[in-house]
Amino acid sequence: MPAPRRHFASDNYAGATPEAWAAIEEARHGHARAYGEDEWTARAADMLRDLFETDCEVFFVFNGTAANSLALATCCQSYHSILCHELAHVETDECGAPEFFSNGTKVLLLPGANGKIDPAGIERVVKKRTDLHFPKPRAVSITNATEVGTAYTPGEIKSIWARTKSLDLHLHMDGARFANAVASLGCTPKEITWQAGVDVLCFGGTKQGLPVGEAVVFFNRDLAREFEYRCKQAGQLASKMRFLSAGWVGMLKDGAWLRHAAHSNAMAARLDAAISPIPGVKKLFPREANSVFAELPLPAIEKLLAKGWRFYTFIGAGGCRFMCSWDTQAEDVDAFAADVRASIE
Ligand SMILES: *Cc1c(COP(=O)(O)O)cnc(C)c1O
Repeated sequence: MPAPRRHFASDNYAGATPEAWAAIEEARHGHARAYGEDEWTARAADMLRDLFETDCEVFFVFNGTAANSLALATCCQSYHSILCHELAHVETDECGAPEFFSNGTKVLLLPGANGKIDPAGIERVVKKRTDLHFPKPRAVSITNATEVGTAYTPGEIKSIWARTKSLDLHLHMDGARFANAVASLGCTPKEITWQAGVDVLCFGGTKQGLPVGEAVVFFNRDLAREFEYRCKQAGQLASKMRFLSAGWVGMLKDGAWLRHAAHSNAMAARLDAAISPIPGVKKLFPREANSVFAELPLPAIEKLLAKGWRFYTFIGAGGCRFMCSWDTQAEDVDAFAADVRASIE
């Protein structure tokens, strides 16, 4: 089979990293205890505790929708509500799963520039209705890196935390692209999680280069109570758990996760620099992680699609989303940018 072309549609178009794959290959042999009692899973969880420099509770699930929904369901009762940005994946791309798995918890939307919640908005929504006829706010969910490719800084998360703390709300982080956020900010993982008040993080594995799987990391260990039952009931408890966890061992060893994320961010920076100056390209958001969002003239979009390029035109606030992956090469970026230029001239 010829090597298929690399696209700019999504980081879940990319395959698996050599590091993740090698660990899974190693885990393939022999017998191991089932349902997460195996040594790979124990090792991966320990490596995550080392990475976050704290004694967190770790669970591995198949995908991000389940990770987010089950983590949020753990924070809430059915009569509660979850506050998130209006572009949040939990609102726009999970088919109502957070509401479903929490038996009806309502998701309430907040506006905010560059895909980020304005902390004052949290207080506004919580204080607007405090009577028992309205679903009581119980959690705030933020996405880092955000759906529009920006990253919340430690300071920004802390100012959200100031509100969640005073209003008695849990703080959840959708980290489908957590690795890209850390690489972009140049911070340590703890600085944008538990040190900034995050109770539970859904740490994305798939988009950083695992074949499948996400880690749910509870810094607030009380919230992790009986979480394994929730996973099992939702069909998210892998019996051969080692195949979800071994890839994490490969990625966490020697910092491969961060190296790959820094690379995909760098590719997006290269693409940004190449296409933003082109007349007719209107950049929509600051490029901070591994994606570039821009408006292009419709005929240019059609020409690019006709040339076989794939990218999304329906994500976020409209415009085109060009997403780079761990395996995006400089040649891919340059070829695509040249086609963008040619499509407009
Ligand atoms: C991709 C993604 C997820 C996870 O989606 P699944 O398809 O369910 O794995 C969650 N949040 C964000 C922001 C994403 O981009």
